[in-house]
Amino acid sequence: MNLDQVATRLRGRLAGRSAAHFPLARLTTYRLGGDAELYVEPATVSDLQVLGEVLRDSGVDASGVPVTVLGRGSNLVVSDDGVEGVVIRLGPRLAWTRETGSRGARAGAATPLPQLANHALRRGLSGAEFLVAIPGSVGGGVRMNAGAHGADVASILTAALIFDLSTLSVKERLAGQLGFGYRCSELSASEVVVEASFDLKVAADSSIRERMEAYRRHRAKTQPGAAQNAGSVFKNPPGDSAGRLVEACGLQGFRVGGASVSELHANFFMAAEGASSQDVYDLVHAVAERVRAGAGVELETEIRFVGRFRPSTRASAPEHA
Ligand SMILES: Cc1cc2nc3c(=O)[nH]c(=O)nc-3n(C[C@H](O)[C@H](O)[C@H](O)COP(=O)(O)OP(=O)(O)OC[C@H]3O[C@@H](n4cnc5c(N)ncnc54)[C@H](O)[C@@H]3O)c2cc1C
Repeated sequence: MNLDQVATRLRGRLAGRSAAHFPLARLTTYRLGGDAELYVEPATVSDLQVLGEVLRDSGVDASGVPVTVLGRGSNLVVSDDGVEGVVIRLGPRLAWTRETGSRGARAGAATPLPQLANHALRRGLSGAEFLVAIPGSVGGGVRMNAGAHGADVASILTAALIFDLSTLSVKERLAGQLGFGYRCSELSASEVVVEASFDLKVAADSSIRERMEAYRRHRAKTQPGAAQNAGSVFKNPPGDSAGRLVEACGLQGFRVGGASVSELHANFFMAAEGASSQDVYDLVHAVAERVRAGAGVELETEIRFVGRFRPSTRASAPEHA
């Protein structure tokens, strides 16, 4: 049973949509990469259940078939060769926010993080301001423990509703059970965040708005915006900043193929028109190698590479833009 046949069996059974060989580039901020072997856009938790059942009934072992969950694609690079297996991207019906009690908010996992920040602002609730300029989704924010300006998702999340494609079960898990660390959680590849609940604090509208505006202004001045990049490439090593290290090694403006280190922020790598995902991959490895050699620091990537990439052969010969 191949996934084309699974795609045929899904037809007419989902409230959302599905397609074989679906282009992913426009679903990522880098706008790079090939097709998903099978793309599924669930509109509801029931759609995830149907997908799991169809995979199982088609003889595809759901724990064996690669599953990739895509949020707003703002933290990843999709391979030029595309992605094997099933790519799940929650559909627009799972983008919503609602009040829970006087200080709580619940959001569908497809909700853009800035929308959650604005929901909190409208209700005079503080704590979500840092999300205003992070171009990801609630689901991606939970998985990555997205953070900025001294706060992160783990600091405001109370619980998340998670569908596990390998067991076909849906469970509410408390924030403390998600294994959060710096820009990571312990969610497994088959676990899809569907909804999340947050606990915020009552505050004056003006102070919330001021903080959000200050964060936006800071971003506009120090970062290149969300086009053709995926935010910070490397995690900050303890007590230091990845951008400072890249800059100190003289790598701002370094280029491999169509990918280059941003002149505005050395931890943002840009993809020019015509760049490939492999260019970004090779640039990341070239920079990591030079920082290792120049500063003796092993940088760890924050962005994720999805699908197959060739081992980097251009690492030792980056060029200046
Ligand atoms: C200009 C710019 C600025 C940024 N600034 C910041 C910042 O300040 N702080 C920060 O932390 N990040 C930042 N990022 C990175 C990114 O926005 C965050 O990591 C965000 O949380 C990713 O969300 P996403 O929906 O785009 O996830 P994706 O990039 O689509 O996916 C990221 C990871 O989350 C998983 N995932 C996505 N949705 C789900 C789901 N529903 N269930 C389970 N897993 C899921 C994916 O499988 C993948 O492993 C920035 C990116 C850009 C382009």
